Amino acid sequence: MKKILFFAAALLVMISVKAQNTPFDHVEPPFWWAGMKHEKLQLLIHGDDISHLEPKTDAPGVVIEQVRRVSNPNYLFIDLDIAEAKAGNVVFHFHDKSTRAIIDLEYEFRVREEGSAEREGFSSEDVMYLLMPDRFANGDPSNDSHPDMREKADRNNPNGRHGGDLKGIIDNLDYISDMGFTALWLNPYQENNNPEYSYHGYAITDFYNTDPRIGTNEDYLELVELSHQKGMKVIMDYILNHSSLYHWFIEDLPAENWIHQHEEFTYSNFRGSAISDPYASEFDLNQMLTGWFDRHMPDLDQRNELLSTYLIQNTIWWIEYSGIDGIRLDTQPYPYKEMVADWAERIFYEYPEFNVVGEAWLQKEALTAYFQETSRGKHYNSNIPSITDFPLHGAINNGLRDSEGWNTGLYAIYYTLAQDFVYPDPFKNVIFLDNHDVDRFSFLTKQDMEIYKMGVAMILTMRGIPQVYYGTELLMDGDKNRGHGFIRQDYPGGWENDKTSAFTGEGLDKNVLEAQAFMKRILNWRKNSEVIHHGSFKHFLPVDQVYLYAREYNGESVIVIVSKNNSNVKFDYSRYQEVLGGAVNAEDIINDSRVNLNDFTILPRSVYILEIK
Ligand code: CA
Repeated sequence: MKKILFFAAALLVMISVKAQNTPFDHVEPPFWWAGMKHEKLQLLIHGDDISHLEPKTDAPGVVIEQVRRVSNPNYLFIDLDIAEAKAGNVVFHFHDKSTRAIIDLEYEFRVREEGSAEREGFSSEDVMYLLMPDRFANGDPSNDSHPDMREKADRNNPNGRHGGDLKGIIDNLDYISDMGFTALWLNPYQENNNPEYSYHGYAITDFYNTDPRIGTNEDYLELVELSHQKGMKVIMDYILNHSSLYHWFIEDLPAENWIHQHEEFTYSNFRGSAISDPYASEFDLNQMLTGWFDRHMPDLDQRNELLSTYLIQNTIWWIEYSGIDGIRLDTQPYPYKEMVADWAERIFYEYPEFNVVGEAWLQKEALTAYFQETSRGKHYNSNIPSITDFPLHGAINNGLRDSEGWNTGLYAIYYTLAQDFVYPDPFKNVIFLDNHDVDRFSFLTKQDMEIYKMGVAMILTMRGIPQVYYGTELLMDGDKNRGHGFIRQDYPGGWENDKTSAFTGEGLDKNVLEAQAFMKRILNWRKNSEVIHHGSFKHFLPVDQVYLYAREYNGESVIVIVSKNNSNVKFDYSRYQEVLGGAVNAEDIINDSRVNLNDFTILPRSVYILEIK
């Protein structure tokens, strides 16, 4: 009798509490899936003074293994075993010992999409198009500003928000696909509710939600779905290193060691070399790892296990939720490398054919190679298959501009590639002429059309996975010294009343149209070129300011010739026999013509892509 009364009383309290607002401000992840390979889940519960609550559940297949409390009483971390969890809603009962109240929380386990674990990541078969959502196209002018978001749109401010959004990208997917790109890499789209500089997306205030000025999570799902329908993959930009100063968990820190704190503001020294340097001082290594990337970007301390699990789960959540095909990891050398390796291992445990490229922004080949997955076990293993090839980026940018010398000009490119032995797999390097963080290629090359063609032809036929920055195909220039906003200009045609449009060609200069058509032609040829996707690579020492390399696959071969010579150069047929194999005829992909290799003149300042017949 007593027992029944107690239950009745408890039920009454529970009903009354449920009628009030829930004391939980955040429950993350907001939902999960049944049938994941990893059998654990950690829930972060946040709300005013909730840590004394004791969660219980009798949901079948969901076991509370541990409840962890931190120094801040506004948090509970619940470790679950979900090996046997079934799809559907489960209820957690939070018992308040002092008031005897019970607060219920419903939590959803979703059904996994079929084939979710088997998705194939981006590869050397792909060319990725990098674009900044705020700067590409404004598909919905009504969301440019949002009442809950601190920064309002201002297109006159190069570093302000310009109104681009997911709808704008969705509306132009056909254009991107027709250009010949097969993958999209978007700079971060999650909420950046910061008072300024919020347009670039790298200062996140909500890891689970799309910025309302960019769109909604549902818009993102639509973008991925439609991209897949058009044969394009989608790559998410993920940040392990920092969040925004205005993130709710920074404003109400779970624990002192959630972020790195200093007596006074301390920048990172931005020397990624300290991570691999056998002689690095602790002082330098420490500053590299614990200094902040910027004043409004607190440096997360991934040694905090609760935080690292939070970030890993957030990553898995987006992969499972949105159907993306790859991730570009921001600032790979800056988070603790052990955590980066754990993070990548967890991704590939769940999705073995997925792909990740780490932004390893280092100028030297060996320093870059350190951050690529290795099976050789000689040093640190990041578990990350692809890395950004900044050494090749520098070599091509400088090599095509500088005059020819013993190790300059085309030799800068040659020497960079000659060091490929340091990479575990250079064919997985992501290669590029420019991106959102560097001077635009056409700014450095002063919009020189011949150099543009050499650069584009090389990037699209070189070993590795090419990435093109939006606008490079339009010879867009941009000087980083004037501010980052100048290398992230609005894409012409993306805004109503734009006088020029890259989408329709309206108002574009003749040379811009030529540049765009040039890239489009090679991209669409590359789409079906297995030699470029999978072929071996061989090159010859540059002679007479002419550089030649060959790709070979299954008996087919392609040679690429780059000439910086201001005069005609007679093609040295006998010198290149080991890649020509006696063949005389070739198809000139760029000029759509036939070439007789035995009697061939390389024109001044030119590039050729020749399919050997
Ligand atoms: Ca908009």
